[in-house]
Amino acid sequence: MSYGELAALKEECGVVAAYGTGADLPGLLYVGLFALQHRGEESAGIAVSNGQQIALDKGLGLVSEVFSMRSLEELSSIRPTLGIGHVRYSTCDGDDLAHAQPFIVRYLRGNMALAHNGNLANTDELRREMEQNGQIFQTNSDTEIILNLIARYRREGIVPAVQKALGRVRGAYSLVLQSDNTLIAVRDAHGFRPLALGRLGDGYVVASESCAFDAMGAELIRDLEPGEIVVIDENGLRSERLLGELPPRHSCIFEYIYFARVDSVIDGLNVHEIRRDLGRILAQEHPAEADIVIGVPDSAIPAAVGYALESGLPYEEGLVKNRYVGRTFISPGQSLRNLKVRLKLNPNRHVLAGKRVVVVEDSIVRGTTSRNLIRLLKEAGATEVHMRISSPPYISPCYYGIDTPYEEELVAARHSTESIRQMIGADSLAYLSIEGLLRAVPGGGNCLACLTGNYPVL
Ligand code: AMP
Ligand code: SF4
Repeated sequence: MSYGELAALKEECGVVAAYGTGADLPGLLYVGLFALQHRGEESAGIAVSNGQQIALDKGLGLVSEVFSMRSLEELSSIRPTLGIGHVRYSTCDGDDLAHAQPFIVRYLRGNMALAHNGNLANTDELRREMEQNGQIFQTNSDTEIILNLIARYRREGIVPAVQKALGRVRGAYSLVLQSDNTLIAVRDAHGFRPLALGRLGDGYVVASESCAFDAMGAELIRDLEPGEIVVIDENGLRSERLLGELPPRHSCIFEYIYFARVDSVIDGLNVHEIRRDLGRILAQEHPAEADIVIGVPDSAIPAAVGYALESGLPYEEGLVKNRYVGRTFISPGQSLRNLKVRLKLNPNRHVLAGKRVVVVEDSIVRGTTSRNLIRLLKEAGATEVHMRISSPPYISPCYYGIDTPYEEELVAARHSTESIRQMIGADSLAYLSIEGLLRAVPGGGNCLACLTGNYPVL
């Protein structure tokens, strides 16, 4: 498989689903998507079904921009009993409405809708084969391919159809599917992307992260196992498996480092606690002569707190975030990205002036954020800036559902720690070791490919 080909397909997202949760099911999905907004700011969508009819609303933008009171009422008007929702991250090759999910397909016997988070490896091959058999596609989206593949086998029953279709798909995905009266959730055989199951009253909910359940007022039951298919219908909930032998588990370790929200529990581990431990171990591995510790909001704050606790240095709020600016990483051009860093973070000079500062960040990707940040901290009066990174160097692109730049743009792929230190203008720079990372994330079975360059074979 060509990694270049895969990189062009990168996509990362958040999914949510609900079954039998009562009257305001669209409103519930909306709240769940709101809590998952950090997983995708580009588009949002909700599809609901009452068993006979399906209703869909999706659009470009934030959850708060896509849906209105009126559009949610319209979705509610069919009196839905189940539904799915999706938020999508910006990618370089497809941020138009055609790529917004969920996708729906209407066929002879009914309707289906599907939304997924992940990155599929062999969709070109599948598309060619299906086109040769007369299938016409509306978009070049992976989601449409999976959905049509499932529809093709649908006569055999929905679970065998999902098993058969996904048996042909290689890749990293967590997906939710609604078919007439049945809700289905699937986590790929490696378990790359997270997917959790929760309960709400007499109904069930599914989401990429458990923080969505907190917002929905639901209770986390458990994470889906790699290769698990959860089926929810009028007979209740049952668990099935993808066909074939299960490969070793490879749950994404970067969800803990950066991507997931700190109040989520993924595969039994709370993200905040893991990040705090990353900071503690970082302080053991790389102490610094300094006066205060600060963190880069939001994702690196728990690691900075951990670093401060372990080192005995005081933790201060040296950087104040403007909460109304989206993630800088998603801006299209480099110059706009630079501007956004300044817009987004304001150094608090009352805390920084005359101080030797340890600044804890969760990762360096291109190096732009760190370089701007250190300049800002020095302009605000910091006498020394010691940068500490709560993950090992990010040296390889992700092909399993996290949107990362090509290898040429990953600064640690090409430069030593000392040369990165010079480039970003830090007085010292140190990264957490792989061993330190594995101490903080107990249990094993994680993907570390972007940090080691060793890719699990799909
Ligand atoms: P950079 O400026 O390219 O070095 O990006 C580093 C910043 O991006 C850090 O603040 C990270 O928290 C954040 N980051 C790391 N990985 C990702 C990712 N996959 N998507 C978006 N932001 C990221
Ligand atoms: Fe996560 Fe990195 Fe593996 Fe991608 S390569 S799934 S970001 S650990």
